[in-house]
Amino acid sequence: MTTCEKAAKCPYANLELPLDQDASKKYADNYCFGDFNSCARLKVCNAIGKPNVPRDLYPDQHEAADALIKAINPSWTTEA
Ligand code: SF4
Repeated sequence: MTTCEKAAKCPYANLELPLDQDASKKYADNYCFGDFNSCARLKVCNAIGKPNVPRDLYPDQHEAADALIKAINPSWTTEA
């Protein structure tokens, strides 16, 4: 099993959000303890820093994540 390096303190990994338990566990299993490289929160954190990751940004909200990153770093692209 793979675990995101942010899992110890991330509200999604620790089921601390006001989501029902099934939804919370689904996010945690799919992202935090699964394909964390596809997480929008991790993308924002790596691109512009943890203080810029809104608590309510969901791991699958890539459009919102991209907008947040571009607001701070307009030259950022999804191309690595
Ligand atoms: S929500 Fe994203 S950043 Fe947070 S622990 Fe899960 S995969 Fe990592």
